[in-house]
Amino acid sequence: MSMNLRKQEKRPVKSIAILGSTGSIGRQSLEVIKSFPNLLKATVLTAHSNDELLIQQAKEFLPNAVVIGESEKWQRVKEELAEYPIEVLSGQQGLLEVVRREDVDCVLVALVGAAGLLPTYAAIEARKQIALANKETLVIAGALIMNKAKEKAVSILPVDSEHSAIFQCLVGEARASVQKIYLTASGGPFRGFTIQQLEDVSPSQALKHPNWQMGRKISIDSATLVNKGLEIIEARWLFDTEAIDVVIHPQSVIHSLVCFVDGSLKAQLGTPDMRIPIQYALTYPNRCSNSLKPFSFQDFPSFTFEAVNHDVFKGVVYARHALERGGNVPCILNAANEIAVELFLQMKIKFLEIYHVIEKALVKIPFIANPSLAELLETDIFTREFLLQHYQKI
Ligand code: NAD
Ligand code: MG
Repeated sequence: MSMNLRKQEKRPVKSIAILGSTGSIGRQSLEVIKSFPNLLKATVLTAHSNDELLIQQAKEFLPNAVVIGESEKWQRVKEELAEYPIEVLSGQQGLLEVVRREDVDCVLVALVGAAGLLPTYAAIEARKQIALANKETLVIAGALIMNKAKEKAVSILPVDSEHSAIFQCLVGEARASVQKIYLTASGGPFRGFTIQQLEDVSPSQALKHPNWQMGRKISIDSATLVNKGLEIIEARWLFDTEAIDVVIHPQSVIHSLVCFVDGSLKAQLGTPDMRIPIQYALTYPNRCSNSLKPFSFQDFPSFTFEAVNHDVFKGVVYARHALERGGNVPCILNAANEIAVELFLQMKIKFLEIYHVIEKALVKIPFIANPSLAELLETDIFTREFLLQHYQKI
């Protein structure tokens, strides 16, 4: 009897599918999972093209299934893992299958870009808890995703540090007490630059973020401040409010703030380390002690704040425009940005042309007021094709 009771009291291990386990968020998630062997287990790992790292991760973490995005690499992964009881799948179909598996409680969406949309949607349909790093999914289809999550009673736990901060500030608060959300932004590597200074900046300069080590796409987004724009749209859907402002806070210690109707502000602070918000999403609603370096006030002797220069860094302006127009406009913004970032990384356009590419798409791509999922996918493809044709450089 007492044995049984004890068994019931023990918290079950949470099984996690990490979509994008070879990326920056994916790798840090595995570190978090490794430090809580009695609480967390990675049962699915996926990678797009890095078969080498996927194989290595599979041998270390022994998931039940892996997915390699590029189908031509399936054979190699299969052979390397032949002696392990690990299922090997491939392509987008593989992603859509693994999120529905019975041995998955939570899907951590750490893919980059629009590729996150369909697997997230499928995971919600299968009633899996979502830990969401992939903000693009909410930018493209926020209304559809949130409605589906509501219908299926699925919780979406933010991994993005700003959104994790707001989520934490809102614990125990009534929705009606919230006046405004403040997203903090580091300002990126080019904070304070003029248009003239931005003229000839290179991809390697843009990839050098002052506070965070991240994937290439989000690093460029941080340099243009499009990342902050995408985060405004992400916050609009996660927290169901349009009262969202951005403040530059170069130290990246205050991860975001909520202002309440009584004039009180609550903030969440911490060392800029994504393992903290990843852990919170995976162990929510519990807080668990870990071995991360404790916060040191000596390392951060001062906090400063600045306004965003919207004339130079237009990411926030685009997001406000996209939210105001609604429909498929945020999807157009996202697709255009993905293409622009790719063109810039390949040195086919200059840094400031990223904004021109986005503006071209916002003007030229037809508006759809209440797009279905299929129409959003069409908008995404159409925007990419239109821009690639126009720039004819890829
Ligand atoms: P990354 O480029 O380091 O990793 C991306 C992962 O997605 C890789 O595992 C890759 O194999 C996979 N992937 C890429 N394209 C794919 C495709 N077409 N189909 C399937 N899988 C694909 O990116 P990241 O920096 O880890 O960012 C991941 C997501 O998390 C992004 O949406 C980003 O905005 C968000 N995010 C990242 C950070 C960060 O610190 N890196 C912080 C907040 C939010
Ligand atoms: Mg963020």
